[in-house]
Amino acid sequence: MSDRYLQFIQTPFGKSLSGLLGLPQPPRLRRAVEAWQAMPLFDQPWLAAASQGALYTEAMLRSLAGMGARLRIDPANPGLPLLKTAAQALDLRLAGEPERGADAPSQGIVFDASGCVDADDLAQLYQLFHPRIPALPASGRVVLIGRSPASETDARAAACAAALRGFVRSLGKEVGRKGITVNLIEVAPGGISQIDAALRFFLTPHAAFVTGQVLRLGEGGELPPLPGSLKGQVALVTGAARGIGAAIAEVLAREGATIIGLDHPSQEAALGATMAGVGGRGLALDVTAPDAAERIRQEVLRHHAGLDLVVHNAGVTRDKMLRNMPAHFWDLVININLKAILDINDGLLAEGYAPGARCVCISSIGGIAGNAGQTNYAATKAAVIGYVAAMAPQFAERGGTINAVAPGFIETQMTAAMPVGPREVGRRLSALGQGGVPQDIAEAVAFLASPAARGINGEVLRVCGQNFVGA
Ligand code: NAP
Repeated sequence: MSDRYLQFIQTPFGKSLSGLLGLPQPPRLRRAVEAWQAMPLFDQPWLAAASQGALYTEAMLRSLAGMGARLRIDPANPGLPLLKTAAQALDLRLAGEPERGADAPSQGIVFDASGCVDADDLAQLYQLFHPRIPALPASGRVVLIGRSPASETDARAAACAAALRGFVRSLGKEVGRKGITVNLIEVAPGGISQIDAALRFFLTPHAAFVTGQVLRLGEGGELPPLPGSLKGQVALVTGAARGIGAAIAEVLAREGATIIGLDHPSQEAALGATMAGVGGRGLALDVTAPDAAERIRQEVLRHHAGLDLVVHNAGVTRDKMLRNMPAHFWDLVININLKAILDINDGLLAEGYAPGARCVCISSIGGIAGNAGQTNYAATKAAVIGYVAAMAPQFAERGGTINAVAPGFIETQMTAAMPVGPREVGRRLSALGQGGVPQDIAEAVAFLASPAARGINGEVLRVCGQNFVGA
């Protein structure tokens, strides 16, 4: 499954021809080629900034320094005294921004905007970003840290916290053509202790296809030292024979997890090949089988104490306008994409999930925006988002989390089967001007599956290159 236009315009001839004809030139995205690293930003210059009255400067600087970043500051930044105090407390060195061309450009900007609590404070966004956007390098990163509007009792502060959402979504669309991503971390009470994992995700190539998104951090307790690592964890991935499921199995295995890959019996050969590649075991099973949870439990408990992670990825489309849709299209999609998830989770929550287990359900931006011809599919994918929100307290009680990932257009067999027109529109109408690859979804799943992402629960993360469909 490949995007031939994207490959063509990345050749020298394709680049100059598309330039001459004024055709779009989607950027080459810098994706992760290895497991999560302890110091992913080692020796890279990053600009750290804070608004006046910012709340999270110390946690932000600790995380950036922990990743190995060289910290730069803007001498005119209103939050400078806060940054200096935090740096002193952490024994960190801050350097001024160099003259343009005198040193490598900053790889990105991390701005603690939590001090923006009234309309006039928002001028600090303009002052910081307006002069610096042109100098951001290709595949650069912008991350804002703000308050969670829902947790604010003051209406002015809530409005300003919400303003950051509009800002990142718009800026993401302005800079996406350079492969630059812009995201917002909203900190709910108790959530600041969880910020390291979120920054490690957004600032590194693990999140190459995630832009214009808002991630809410809540309480998560004490964290393991390195996010991403899944050593010693047992993970079940459904629909693992090919496409996104196979990539999820590969990335989770790369992070050290032991994989049990499940797929429909008709895919047994492909599943065997995928599992051989990741050193995992295959389970040929229809997720809609009445005894699916029991079969999974037996398979798991034969070799392990329980499941630390379940990724509900198996899914199908049977598209037709509702007026033309046969009943069996409706039933098949509801049963595979939704009922199977509910039934298998109910069974595994009774027995099979280990203490602290995490669950990630694959939704779709179609479930957020809706698509003509996908009433059945969109209903199931929206249901998954409602389900993770409703189940979050139950998973939290057990020390775990449940979240959804909503892919946009991803190059797989599913999207290769689309008619040419909608396929091309699905790819190009996004801030990054291209479809994602299965690895993009897998990286987001590995992040949410990590014990270090415990502060994220009941949320939905869109991995869509900021597709123009939906929010
Ligand atoms: P895919 O290439 O069609 O792979 C899905 C896998 O799930 C297939 O191996 C499929 O086997 C398996 N499966 C289907 N029904 C099953 C059942 N009853 N029991 C067990 N396994 C079953 O799809 P994909 O593109 O990788 O999509 C993976 C997930 O991402 C789906 O939930 C999809 O809705 C979601 N998603 C994808 C995109 C995209 O752009 N690709 C966008 C948004 C969301 P069969 O061949 O037997 O069907």
